[in-house]
Amino acid sequence: MSRIAVVGAGYVGLTTAASLADLGNDVRVVEIDTAKVRSLQRYRVHFYEPGLQELIERNARAGRLRFTTSYAEAIPDAEFVFLAVNTPEGENGEADLSYVRAATCSIAQSLSGPLIVINKSTVPIGTGDIVSEVIRSFNSQFEVDVVSNPEFLREGSALKDFMQPDRVVIGAHKREAAERVAKLYETLGAPILIYNLYTAEMVKYASNAFLAARISFINEMARICERVDADVKLVAEGMGLDRRIGPHFLGAGIGYGGSCFPKDVKALAAIAEQYEYHPELLHAVMDINRDQRTLAVDKLRECLGSLRGQVIGLLGLAFKPDTDDMREAASVEIARALLKKGATVRAYDPAAIDKAKAIMPDVEYRRNAHGVARGADAIVVVTEWNEFKQLDMVKVKRLMRRPVIVDGRNLYDPVEMRRLGFVYRGIGRN
Ligand code: NAD
Repeated sequence: MSRIAVVGAGYVGLTTAASLADLGNDVRVVEIDTAKVRSLQRYRVHFYEPGLQELIERNARAGRLRFTTSYAEAIPDAEFVFLAVNTPEGENGEADLSYVRAATCSIAQSLSGPLIVINKSTVPIGTGDIVSEVIRSFNSQFEVDVVSNPEFLREGSALKDFMQPDRVVIGAHKREAAERVAKLYETLGAPILIYNLYTAEMVKYASNAFLAARISFINEMARICERVDADVKLVAEGMGLDRRIGPHFLGAGIGYGGSCFPKDVKALAAIAEQYEYHPELLHAVMDINRDQRTLAVDKLRECLGSLRGQVIGLLGLAFKPDTDDMREAASVEIARALLKKGATVRAYDPAAIDKAKAIMPDVEYRRNAHGVARGADAIVVVTEWNEFKQLDMVKVKRLMRRPVIVDGRNLYDPVEMRRLGFVYRGIGRN
């Protein structure tokens, strides 16, 4: 059993805290947002992540997991502190480290003994040294080691990803500190890779940039497929069975979004430029993604002409299924473009409606997919939730005013859709 503090009660912080508590550690979470802490103290999680609320309740009731707004309560007893605060996009695309700096100052001011600070936030290469310097500027009494331990979890399967990771990456200047952190993960049975600090920090950006590049690659193939009458879904299947390529992240669609890929690719490009290297490929990845995100609106205009006065339904709002995360969700860009063109926008999402309402008050929200279809001139599939795969499309068509579907995630079979009488447009398949 180790005594652990986790700073930041977001997707990464809460997953880390609940999982480490479940492995038998004593964990305290410190979060600046009082409302989040109050709700967590009543075992309520402020976002949707399958299984997380139950895991938190079980471990909090067992006394292994506590929540506070006070660093003075969380830090002094801890042997390890995980930093899991947000690192959003800064003004020029670089990562904004102000939350990391503020949290580090607060940790340093509450120190009462030696400590290992473990950075889980995605941060530019060298940030571990900045964290060390900030701590040293407040404290010269206790030995504090800073270790990088990037997180690779995916929202929607965060607990499984944490408990059964493909690998755990740990980076430190001192091998002994890295090995102590490695012990926290020993029971998971995953490969543990110990690198130097900068390499570990770089692994995270390189991984996200590579995954984003795969998505932009297949989206570029989709553009070509449409022109040569090939089906990109089958092309991806044919490519993906090649073991050198693999099947993942080859779904053509309306581009990547979410809280990580967009900002991380930009931040990595900004890091490269800072070192006077122009990252051609990263810029191409971002350009392709930008164009892909407005493709659904272009396709609607192809089918409907002017969008003024048309009723457009959106199936899905979250940036991907199994989450209510709306950060950089394609739905926001699409809805804004449609509203600007004078359309009425109706939307449904199984989890993200409450969050979407705060961002897009001008969209009309419906309780299910049929509500979206009723009276619509077209439907755009924005998020590939499972429940949309099983829709009764005969009923959907009956409810719509005009049977137009722009399938931004290639959920449906074009031949079947046309047989049912839809005007159907997928991505990269005619
Ligand atoms: P988040 O926005 O969900 O959570 C961050 C939390 O930190 C917020 O609740 C915020 O209030 C809190 N916070 C900010 N400053 C604080 C401070 N000084 N003291 C205490 N709490 C503070 O963010 P997230 O999605 O969990 O991401 C955290 C980091 O992990 C980011 O760097 C992100 O890039 C990275 N990451 C995220 C994911 C993901 O899927 N969300 C996956 C891997 C890595």
